[in-house]
Amino acid sequence: MKKLFLVFLLFLSCCYFQPKENSNLTIGIVTDVQYCACEPNDVRYYNNSAVKLDSCINYFNSQKLDFVAHLGDAIDRDFNSFDVILPHFRRSKAPVYFVLGNHEFNVQEEFKTSVLSKMNLKNDYYSISKDDWKFIFLNGNDLSFRVPQDSIKKAERDSLYAKLIRTGRCNTGKANGGLSSKQFTWLKNQLEDAVRANKKVIVMCHFPIYPVACHSLFNDEELTAMLTDYKCVKAYFCGHNHPGGYALKDGVHFINFKGMVDTPDSASFAKVTLTSDSIFVIGRGREITRRLKIF
Ligand SMILES: [Zn+2]
Repeated sequence: MKKLFLVFLLFLSCCYFQPKENSNLTIGIVTDVQYCACEPNDVRYYNNSAVKLDSCINYFNSQKLDFVAHLGDAIDRDFNSFDVILPHFRRSKAPVYFVLGNHEFNVQEEFKTSVLSKMNLKNDYYSISKDDWKFIFLNGNDLSFRVPQDSIKKAERDSLYAKLIRTGRCNTGKANGGLSSKQFTWLKNQLEDAVRANKKVIVMCHFPIYPVACHSLFNDEELTAMLTDYKCVKAYFCGHNHPGGYALKDGVHFINFKGMVDTPDSASFAKVTLTSDSIFVIGRGREITRRLKIF
């Protein structure tokens, strides 16, 4: 009897966590692969990421995906690592969209301006539309201490940074970054377009923004305020904080996916299916499975 009850519970949970319709959008999410041919440091097993990414891409290739997104930090520290890890991403049958993390720019000074072309990115922030969804990929390193800045960005960065110090915020680690006012204006226009086109929006950026924390984007509060102001924004996907996390604010789901580089052998990635009423996150490895209602 007890066994039967357990089987019934398993059946219920399968139904609850599996989307029913098959005309949905399905995407693969992976983050913080952070590859390097380096010795492990604490929980970070840089060198094992290529094998873990292969298992992730094998799984993604066995599914029908519209695209795959990597949420930043494909490498850990040196430019040559791109030549090792990018071919593993290229095994994906579905197109791969890259979000820029802070570690992409943790490379020798002379290579910093070549990062975008190496990753085959025409722009550092961009958007794509599929069916009734729009996906916006932000560059959280727009204002940065690691990326070369022109005088306008430098002034913006320094005044934002000074404000964080003045107000006692702890997200002042110089590996963090921020959005320029130019990118905010672009984002606002993108959201206005989405409203006019009646599209639902998912925003992706490397850095978490909500709840505020020490690893947050420099302008976390401003970005959260803008996104929660738009009914069309349904979720915000990020990486950077490897243990991951989740929060809900004003109808927006903030999902921090777990970093792949942590642990010697267990990968972490997710298949995300978007239905008319839910976001199904099917976690693999260490990633958590969630069904999130679309508000
Ligand atoms: Zn990061």
